[in-house]
Amino acid sequence: MDWLSFSILLARIMIEIVFFAIGASIFSFLNVIIYRLPRHIQFTLGHSKCTTCGHELTMRDMIPILSWVSLRGKCRYCGARVSARYTIVEVLGGIFAVLWTVLFGIKWMALLAFLASGVLTVVLYILYDKMRESSLRQSRK
Ligand SMILES: [Zn+2]
Repeated sequence: MDWLSFSILLARIMIEIVFFAIGASIFSFLNVIIYRLPRHIQFTLGHSKCTTCGHELTMRDMIPILSWVSLRGKCRYCGARVSARYTIVEVLGGIFAVLWTVLFGIKWMALLAFLASGVLTVVLYILYDKMRESSLRQSRK
């Protein structure tokens, strides 16, 4: 591999790392929608809070993937376990961003595929939660 090809490959890898971070950040916001939409909580207002202790989360608690890993999946304030699903959704966002830009290039088609992936992720997670909720309610009867 010559120097030019290596440089182009290196630049492409750095661009994909940036796309991964952007995808993870956007899907991090989709976590907010997945949690708040079925509970009729406005998702454009208010800070994110720990679902156990209610402590308001700061920016350093909400860095996609990295916060969850550095806190070993626990709340910084109360130590309660934070579900891995939030991080899984963020990783999915990063993977989708990289996958679609590698497949389609940095084009509108990649953006459309990414948006469709996001909508599908939100719908599937909300449906999954609804099904789990209703089966829990059934088992309590
Ligand atoms: Zn907490």
